[in-house]
Amino acid sequence: MLNKSLDLDKAYGEPANGSSSIVSHRHPNPLPPLQDRHGRTFDYVRIAVIEQCNLRCTYCMPEEGVKFKEKDMVLRSEEIIKVVEVLARMGVRKVRFTGGEPLVRNDIVDLVAQSVQTPGVKAVHMTTNGLLFPKYARDLREAGLFGVNISLDSLTEEKFEQITRRPGLDKVLESIDLAVELGFPRVKINVVLMRGFNEDELIDFCEITKDKPVTVRFIEFMPFDAHQIWETGQHFASAADLCGQIEKNYSDTGINAASGTRTEHHIYQVPGYAGKIAVIPAFTRSLCGNCSRIRVTADGSIMNCLYSEVPYQLKDLMRNGGSDDDIVGLFRKAFDDKHKDGFESKKAASVAAKINVSDISRSRSSMTQIGG
Ligand code: SAM
Ligand code: SF4
Repeated sequence: MLNKSLDLDKAYGEPANGSSSIVSHRHPNPLPPLQDRHGRTFDYVRIAVIEQCNLRCTYCMPEEGVKFKEKDMVLRSEEIIKVVEVLARMGVRKVRFTGGEPLVRNDIVDLVAQSVQTPGVKAVHMTTNGLLFPKYARDLREAGLFGVNISLDSLTEEKFEQITRRPGLDKVLESIDLAVELGFPRVKINVVLMRGFNEDELIDFCEITKDKPVTVRFIEFMPFDAHQIWETGQHFASAADLCGQIEKNYSDTGINAASGTRTEHHIYQVPGYAGKIAVIPAFTRSLCGNCSRIRVTADGSIMNCLYSEVPYQLKDLMRNGGSDDDIVGLFRKAFDDKHKDGFESKKAASVAAKINVSDISRSRSSMTQIGG
């Protein structure tokens, strides 16, 4: 596989619109950075702001019967901003809003604007399914949103509906074009590549990068789907396999390794193409050694790993009058406890729950709780 150089500055990017209203990236009152006992520093937070969604992707949610948390169980706007402020003091520079579908939350533009203005925060990003993006795109750009990842798993309407259980391909394609047109500095397309579903579209997705300055990211299917279709083993396509197919298809072009973010472990650019192609080993987890991510769930728990089952109760702490120091202490505790990699996290979760390690993913009903 081709190697690539890590370009962290590019990963975080410069201020969204170059505006002087964007605050300094050095916090005026900093705290020691958030680190773990394995020597990693955590400077990127992913906050799930809502569990609800306007799609029902088969690899993520069941069609019916999802028990979403009541509104009061989900972090309020001021609590989310408090978390961003405290983390920015601890050296967090990148914030991503995810979900559920973040654009279903009606204070989302304000959350973006306030996070952009938080001292220390360098870039605010969002992961969205794109359905509501055309409605909010201009406001989000104005609020200073830097990057937008739009999820799309098929370029045909029939398969799109099969995967998401809703119509909407045109809207998502419109969102991608609009994001580029409005000049969001980072526009990415997230594709969960699954054997027997959409693997035949791998090269069609790569070809999007010919004319569009976007990164198409193929994400390994992870075992967090409500129906456990992952468990059949029939649909998983490994990062190594996807890289092999891409390299083979473009071998005559002199395809290059390019620079990308920490998780864009395998990243390419076809010579002459406007965009990039990335493969994310989300399941095979060859990226754990580089982990820089903090996760906050919609119901206000800190998770120190996507594969962990141990929530640290941040919302309860804040609602019981916890001070900023208490919040800092809870983040430090969560990351002191962090395991070396996702395999160890999963093993620890299985021991704690007294269940077989292969059954541990069943205890989380959907990716919407943790936001991917
Ligand atoms: N609703 C938004 C969206 O779909 O972009 C944000 C939330 S969604 C949970 C975040 C990302 O997780 C999406 O790109 C989605 O494709 C991905 N995802 C969801 N379930 C997954 C799974 N089982 N394996 C791999 N990726 C998954
Ligand atoms: Fe909704 Fe995103 Fe999950 Fe699809 S992947 S059901 S769009 S949260």
